Amino acid sequence: MRVTTRIRRFIVQRRLRKDKIPLKLWHRSCAQMPLLSRYSGREKMQLRLLASQVLWDKRIIPVKDFELTDEMRVMIAAQVALMLFGLAEPETEPNLSWIHNWNQILVYPAPFHNGRDTVFNALGQIQSLAGFESGETHYQGGIIIDWEDDQPHPLRKHANQVLLHEMAHKLDMLDGDTNGHPPLHSNMSHQAWYEAFETAFDTLNRQLQHGKFTAFNPYAATNPAEFFAVSTEYFFESPNVLNRLFPKVYQQLTLFYRQDPLIRVSALQKS
Ligand SMILES: [Zn+2]
Repeated sequence: MRVTTRIRRFIVQRRLRKDKIPLKLWHRSCAQMPLLSRYSGREKMQLRLLASQVLWDKRIIPVKDFELTDEMRVMIAAQVALMLFGLAEPETEPNLSWIHNWNQILVYPAPFHNGRDTVFNALGQIQSLAGFESGETHYQGGIIIDWEDDQPHPLRKHANQVLLHEMAHKLDMLDGDTNGHPPLHSNMSHQAWYEAFETAFDTLNRQLQHGKFTAFNPYAATNPAEFFAVSTEYFFESPNVLNRLFPKVYQQLTLFYRQDPLIRVSALQKS
């Protein structure tokens, strides 16, 4: 291990020992997040360390006189932490490299107008829609969310915690393209990823073209990048729906996020 890495690790470990999210605040915030119920007490402590690091590293900025409480900030940081849970070790990988490509989250109180025209990519697929949005991500820049959509809610069939969606876009962008293919771990197969996602994307588009009902959010059919982001929402919020509709996508996401929400989530999936 390089000396600079050792020094950085030492500094983070020392800070983690004395500058964590206060325990009472953490418990109050966790109690409002059904998504965290699937993690054990020990795992939640790991999430607390990750969320503490997120709050040191990233700015969470309210927009339009919105008042963000400490609990809201912790809930936002905890959402980031749960996505990083299998990817980053707070004490051995202190720089949280998976989220190095953004540094702030702007929080609107409600959906906001993006002030754009609808944009199409070279394949004729919609790249971004004009109108009101709950979240937005820019290649160079931070993440924008609206609290109305992002606040924790009872888990339902439809997943819609917008920060999970926008963070998936940021992970997707890490290898330079926003195409639904984030940098994969060395034990993963690019071919298996493409096959799982392309088949599911085509299936969803075919169902929609034939006017068939689909339990999956049709927005995922916009383009492969949106399919990955929407699949990520389902993976964490409604894993049983994703696994039932697109089991190979679910399997690829367990390999990518290095966690399996279905293992401990059965008590939460009542709807
Ligand atoms: Zn999106």
